[in-house]
Amino acid sequence: MRRDWSVNVEPMAERVRQCLHCGAEADFLDIRAATMRCNYLQDHLTMPLGPKLSADQLAANLADIAPRYTEQQALLESSRCLFCFDAPCITACPTGIDIPAFIKKIMTGNVTGAARTILTANILGASCARVCPTEVLCEGACVMLDRDSDPIKIGRLQRYATDHVYENRIQILQPAAQKSGKRVAIIGGGPAGMGCAAELVHLGHDAVIFERQPEAGGLNTYGIAYYKMKPAVSLEEVELVKSLGVEFRCGVEVGTDVTRAELDQYDAVFIGVGLGEGHRLRIPGEDLAQVVDALRFIEQIHTQPLHQIPVGARVAVLGCGNTAIDAATQARRLGADEVVVIYRRGEGDMSAYAFEYDLAKRDGASFLFHHAPVKVLGQNGNVTGLQLVQTRFNQSGALESIEGSEIILPFDMVIKAVGQQKQSDWLMKIFPELKLNRNGTMGRDFETGQTSLRHVFAGGDCANGGREVVNAVGEGKKAARGMHKMFCEATVVGPIQPSRWGVPDGPYGSGLDAPIRVPELEEKYEQISPASHPAPAASALTSTNQE
Ligand SMILES: Cc1cc2nc3c(=O)[nH]c(=O)nc-3n(C[C@H](O)[C@H](O)[C@H](O)COP(=O)(O)OP(=O)(O)OC[C@H]3O[C@@H](n4cnc5c(N)ncnc54)[C@H](O)[C@@H]3O)c2cc1C
Ligand code: SF4
Repeated sequence: MRRDWSVNVEPMAERVRQCLHCGAEADFLDIRAATMRCNYLQDHLTMPLGPKLSADQLAANLADIAPRYTEQQALLESSRCLFCFDAPCITACPTGIDIPAFIKKIMTGNVTGAARTILTANILGASCARVCPTEVLCEGACVMLDRDSDPIKIGRLQRYATDHVYENRIQILQPAAQKSGKRVAIIGGGPAGMGCAAELVHLGHDAVIFERQPEAGGLNTYGIAYYKMKPAVSLEEVELVKSLGVEFRCGVEVGTDVTRAELDQYDAVFIGVGLGEGHRLRIPGEDLAQVVDALRFIEQIHTQPLHQIPVGARVAVLGCGNTAIDAATQARRLGADEVVVIYRRGEGDMSAYAFEYDLAKRDGASFLFHHAPVKVLGQNGNVTGLQLVQTRFNQSGALESIEGSEIILPFDMVIKAVGQQKQSDWLMKIFPELKLNRNGTMGRDFETGQTSLRHVFAGGDCANGGREVVNAVGEGKKAARGMHKMFCEATVVGPIQPSRWGVPDGPYGSGLDAPIRVPELEEKYEQISPASHPAPAASALTSTNQE
């Protein structure tokens, strides 16, 4: 298919008034006229979706984007580390992994020891090695950046060490020898729930995970971009957590299969249910068959053979966060001829990380900024295009549509990636006494994860509004320590790191000039000395990591 529908060229309206495929002059503000007169639309856009590439091509397109280092590469990379005292990379990791320590172990040939250092701090060290936005966390804080050098590839080294113990079936973690007799119910078997469970059993308490999906792992199993991590890695981590004595009850939904009265029989409850379904667009045509939610699209990639996944020839992705970018990149890699990411704000407003944005562009996705969908157009029940309106910020900074600026672009698939709903309805149903924040997340003590209910703790996306895997693990771990304090009146010695947002505009070095944003610390900082410190960089302030 020719790429004549260039989307980044102004003025847009001029470009689309004539179909660049067949030359037909059509008023594209009226889809009926367009489809009547445009051969291209008639030939291409009413076809049902189907798979696009062979199994071999797909396997190559969706292979790991950052494959494992060879021994030689790992030795070479580890030998670049300066093993900094007060290493900023540790401070930048929400699970507080002792990074220079594990790198030194790799350098000296003690790969199992390196994995032990990683996994005792972060039970999901293998998945974090693949999915963490290291560019804005540990690697973004590496002092090598201050020396105009590449940061140490901490994620790749972490993968090298953790792959070694998984592949060689080396059991390096053991359940605690002494049991406290306390039992904790964990709702949700995602990164937050597993982080909490692993730390609880390590501290001598029993943990039961209730997970509504057939498999545990949460978005690590069902939602991460396939070229970053395969679900098998997540399932291996579930096995590791099981081997520590955590009980998993999969296919069990709390609220339907388990009641509040049953939960109250446990000594404490951890809520790690993540976020809910994707937001609806609330525009006509949204229910056409080829309009899919990004999460469902990505879930298919994890649960079906790749060569059977239907994808459009011309795909629109609505939204411009990291999920939108993942959906766009995967649609291209699955064989879509063209993918256009459409965002109602400007390039500078998008919440996707810069490196994810670059990847999507390198994969051939186009971006159309300052346009919002008005209507999904269809014919015979199939998507044929999108009616869009141009947007702008008015003088008071609010986003508004520009009258008369509507355009129509042809698409045969629309992927919605406009954010996920909070779990407030579910929470209010099960825990009506719980205090929620105005945005639908749970109010909680940042250090212990304790909510307004003494025996109920929370962490991960449902509590922080949606961040990264590593933050969810870290928050689960903090909550386990908070429960331990409640059970035994004893505090666990060891680093408890605050959660982090990362910075959207790329790495900054050791963080002295533009610190990686830590909302918990900022909040405290404000309370101590409101006027005695400079405001954080505007880019960091505007990052919400949400669609
Ligand atoms: C498309 C997408 C791509 C992402 N890519 C990355 C990435 O590359 N890197 C990164 O670091 N982060 C990424 N994230 C974010 C990351 O996946 C989340 O921050 C992380 O998974 C949060 O963990 P969690 O345990 O809080 O929630 P989840 O992973 O959502 O897990 C919650 C679990 O609770 C279960 N559950 C919900 N309700 C119930 C109930 N009533 N009863 C029983 N079980 C229940 C769910 O089935 C689920 O398994 C991505 C997110 C999305 C949506
Ligand atoms: S900041 Fe960079 S150089 Fe220093 S210890 Fe961490 S990885 Fe090594």
